[in-house]
Amino acid sequence: MFAFDNQYVRLPERFWRKVAPTVVKAPRVLAVNGPLADLLGVDAAWLASQAGADALSGNVVPAGADPIALAYAGHQFGGFNPQLGDGRAILLGEIVGKDGLRRDVQLKGSGRTPFSRGGDGRAALGPVLREYVVSEAMFALGIPTTRSLAAVETGETVQREVPLPGAVLTRVARSHVRVGTFQFFAARQDREALEALTTHTLELLYPDTAASVTGASESALALLDRAIAAHAYLVARWMGVGFVHGVMNTDNTSLSGETIDYGPCAFLDEYDPAKRFSSIDHQGRYAFGNQPQIALWNLARLAEALLEVIDPVEDVAAEKVTERLDTFASRFNEAYAEVMRAKLGIPTKDETDNALIADLFERLAGSEVDFTLFFRRLCDVAASEVAPSADLNVAELFAHPGAWYDWAPRWRARLAAERAGGGPSDEQRSAAMRAANPAFIPRNHRIEEMIAAARKGDLAPFQRMNLVLARPYVEQPENADLARAPKREERVTATFCGT
Ligand code: AMP
Ligand code: MG
Repeated sequence: MFAFDNQYVRLPERFWRKVAPTVVKAPRVLAVNGPLADLLGVDAAWLASQAGADALSGNVVPAGADPIALAYAGHQFGGFNPQLGDGRAILLGEIVGKDGLRRDVQLKGSGRTPFSRGGDGRAALGPVLREYVVSEAMFALGIPTTRSLAAVETGETVQREVPLPGAVLTRVARSHVRVGTFQFFAARQDREALEALTTHTLELLYPDTAASVTGASESALALLDRAIAAHAYLVARWMGVGFVHGVMNTDNTSLSGETIDYGPCAFLDEYDPAKRFSSIDHQGRYAFGNQPQIALWNLARLAEALLEVIDPVEDVAAEKVTERLDTFASRFNEAYAEVMRAKLGIPTKDETDNALIADLFERLAGSEVDFTLFFRRLCDVAASEVAPSADLNVAELFAHPGAWYDWAPRWRARLAAERAGGGPSDEQRSAAMRAANPAFIPRNHRIEEMIAAARKGDLAPFQRMNLVLARPYVEQPENADLARAPKREERVTATFCGT
């Protein structure tokens, strides 16, 4: 059972619509996330039972739930749509977890809502399992993200280009308030709603900040500031693991700074800043290297939506938000440098670091180097002052090994300076690097294989991926096949939203 304690539904009625999930034919539980269930105080064995399947598919609305679809708007690929909203998701309710934090429990794929427009409100098995695996992998990597409590199949088919098995994901998030939620009310010039949403979001997500400000104007500016900090950090972390979100629309930009909406996302195999996977991202707007600037663009849309609340005089408000938005670059650069120094085994700051890092990435791009393997193998190189065989293992990742042999001495000189400064031992450095450079990421080709198997009724690859990816920084020789880069012909080049 769920111990719901619902707040969002207490916000004014124009924030949401009551909606009952659609009943499905034959719900069957495919996965239950034990540790997350435990955190939420929900009995995992119950979730896995038929009663659990009924609740997780929306066939039975559990006691205490207040099922609602949330209203929001959003910029999609740069174009504003004033009317989006949960078209295939229903918020069941909120639970305060054992850690004292409140979280949303949402069914994704549970049928049409008043916001469905032309869509069927459904989700297919593939995208549900994909989101389950990738969101939980992100969590295990230590990157802020929504999570997956369960996946159920519906026993029905959903019609996409071809008929596909249907499924429902139970998504758990600190909040589903997005930049697009603010835009929804700004587009309607609904200042009262903007103020209520600001207060709600600040108190929910940033209670310490909420306690230090008074009034709507201060609250809005403080919320903007916290969102900027959260996204500067989040995107820096994405860049550190080669994550391409793929659809960074403002409706997929959470105020909590959690990664949300695992549609066409993918992890880089070979490093390429221009890399995009999404089949609908024709211009490469959301390419890997564009993500920091897109995050800032999305935050600027949040700022815009809050202008009225911040100051009735537009110029005054604009000046205040600009000052905040201008902090994004330095916050991102700082977070990024910290992420990269950890990856390179450099604990202290030096003004030459940025150049060293930039030089490295130029070489990686020019040599089609597997992003994840490169950094993981670098941990072995760092384990001792000279390590010819570890060196060779890295060099062989490069189409032009000279690029590595040119850069390595610069990096080694930096490590030597660290050593001279009394830094950690080589062994400690290597261990610390292993905690910053995952051996396992959800490889795109493995995800596709996993989905293909699941469609044939074989969940073993799905379960195995979850187990392995729960410990991404731990060497697991028996699972080396999941760490391996795809062969050229195995590379996934396009991903789909799956809507
Ligand atoms: P997304 O691309 O997943 O961020 O979704 C963008 C918008 O389309 C949101 O308002 C979704 O609720 C809506 N949407 C996506 N897929 C469906 C679907 N199958 N049925 C109804 N609405 C959908
Ligand atoms: Mg979305």
